[in-house]
Amino acid sequence: MSESVLVLGGGLTGLQAALELAAAGVTATVVERGPIVGGKRAAVLAGDVDPRLAALAEEANISFLTLAELDSLAGEEGEFVATVRQLPRYVNDDCTRCNHCAPVCPQAVPNEYDAGLTYRKAIHNPFPRTIPDIYAIDIDSCLNMPPNYLPCQRCVEVCDDRAIHFDITPPQPLELPAAAVIVATGYADDDQAEREQLAEFGYGQHPDVVSSVELQRMLEDPGPSGGFATRPSDEGYPDSVMLVLTRVSEGAAWVMGNQLRRLVAQRVEKVQLLVLAADPEDALLAPLRAVASECGIEMACGTWIGVDSEDSGQLLARYATLPGGGHHRLAVDLLVLSSEVHPHPEAAALAAKLGLECDPQGYLQASRAGIYLAGGVLGTVGVEAGGEQARAVAREVVRRLRVQEAAIDKADEGPRLQELEQLLHALIRLGGQG
Ligand code: SF4
Ligand code: SF4
Repeated sequence: MSESVLVLGGGLTGLQAALELAAAGVTATVVERGPIVGGKRAAVLAGDVDPRLAALAEEANISFLTLAELDSLAGEEGEFVATVRQLPRYVNDDCTRCNHCAPVCPQAVPNEYDAGLTYRKAIHNPFPRTIPDIYAIDIDSCLNMPPNYLPCQRCVEVCDDRAIHFDITPPQPLELPAAAVIVATGYADDDQAEREQLAEFGYGQHPDVVSSVELQRMLEDPGPSGGFATRPSDEGYPDSVMLVLTRVSEGAAWVMGNQLRRLVAQRVEKVQLLVLAADPEDALLAPLRAVASECGIEMACGTWIGVDSEDSGQLLARYATLPGGGHHRLAVDLLVLSSEVHPHPEAAALAAKLGLECDPQGYLQASRAGIYLAGGVLGTVGVEAGGEQARAVAREVVRRLRVQEAAIDKADEGPRLQELEQLLHALIRLGGQG
């Protein structure tokens, strides 16, 4: 039986599970599709280096496969064999992060790690501190099609450390034994469908109407605006910000509560909170109401009417409050719309590979022994709740491993005990003859 566990997804939830396994002496292999682990909230959370990332550097029981994804999973609990395919990085461990390459690269694309607020190059590294700590080439944005068509060599020419290689042989698929699989691939929090849905609240009409995913990235340090909320139209600091929870969900309310705290801590002069909910007493709103009260801000409930641009450069938000609170017009510098999360676009394909089912919304359901789910792959959960789930499933995996090991030890002991019994009987017979 394998003593190794496969963790699919190298976001904070997957890393939490891996750390919990490692602490119990179980080896974890983290398989991450992106070039770094930590996911979009990597490197920093609320301005500090996340302790999970700091702890990883010390942990020998955890290994990472980045730019990697599961191809198939054979076997059963205790004896799975996962086939994992890895894309080439085109940059090897000789990379010293000198950053000579990115400025000369002609290919710029929206940076998915900055919620598209900034641009990155085809050769890039999303954060100043990452695991692994080397650059990668996103071959879909690069001008080259290795190994045969290489019209651009600009990054290669400036790389004094000779770390860039387009002639490498693509890695062969890996076959990894695993006693169990923890799936923590998360949800989609920044997809096109969500942007289209936010359009009804004015998203896309004015640069200072942003989604909560975009604000989140602004509030991270290091981030595109140094950890502060800024107005995309002029990069100035807003004096007034209105947060609008467009749909009530635990995850969206959790994110908005955190953002409310951060804005108040940054001494934004005026922070307003509007919840678009038919039932102001909805239990899911209780934590957000508590944060608002702690920050000394009133949580208004109501319906959305629209948003206009003022000649002053401000936005004019129009809404009605419940019950019977009348119509309001509020001038603000920055309007933030909570964005809803959705199942990962490839959740159904992953479910098929794992032999799992999806629920009617498209989130994965745990239905196969030895496969455990945690975090956004199950639906909308906050980072902390996802971390709790990760800890819980990792502990359950360790418990099952120990039970299975004990059963194997007992089974091994069976024949030995029989032999001893036979020997004892033989000695007794011999004794009787003497
Ligand atoms: S130039 Fe070479 S060593 Fe420097 S960051 Fe780019 S790949 Fe790494
Ligand atoms: S080969 Fe050219 S396009 Fe590709 S990463 Fe290097 S500089 Fe950018």
